[in-house]
Amino acid sequence: MEDCIFCKIANHVIESNYAYEDELISAFYDLEPQAPVHVLIVPKKHIGSLDETQEEDSALLAHIMLKIKEIAAKEGLEKGYRVVINTGEDGGQSVHHLHFHLLGKRAMNWPPG
Ligand code: 5GP
Ligand code: ZN
Repeated sequence: MEDCIFCKIANHVIESNYAYEDELISAFYDLEPQAPVHVLIVPKKHIGSLDETQEEDSALLAHIMLKIKEIAAKEGLEKGYRVVINTGEDGGQSVHHLHFHLLGKRAMNWPPG
């Protein structure tokens, strides 16, 4: 995806501030953090949103969830954290490449905004 900002960051066409990386996923710090720790975790392959995932992405999605746990530990989030996947217009998604927000180091509110 030529014009996708997260494809570019995940594949180092544009450099970012990375928290974690492997052959399948990239994690980098959000440009406008909404908590003291705010990491975005994205697959290296382009998937538009959670709504566009398919059965063949099962292993990738499981991999992401397990790595989020490791990233949270590395970021010192032993008191807890929140993982958010904004999806589509009503979900408040602004970048159309699947990403998981990892937020921590402050108490979160419920219900979310
Ligand atoms: P969404 O609203 O789609 O769930 O989240 C997109 C997130 O990406 C926002 O929190 C926004 O601050 C972040 N973001 C947008 N462009 C960039 C960028 O170029 N670099 C980084 N590190 N974060 C970005
Ligand atoms: Zn993309």
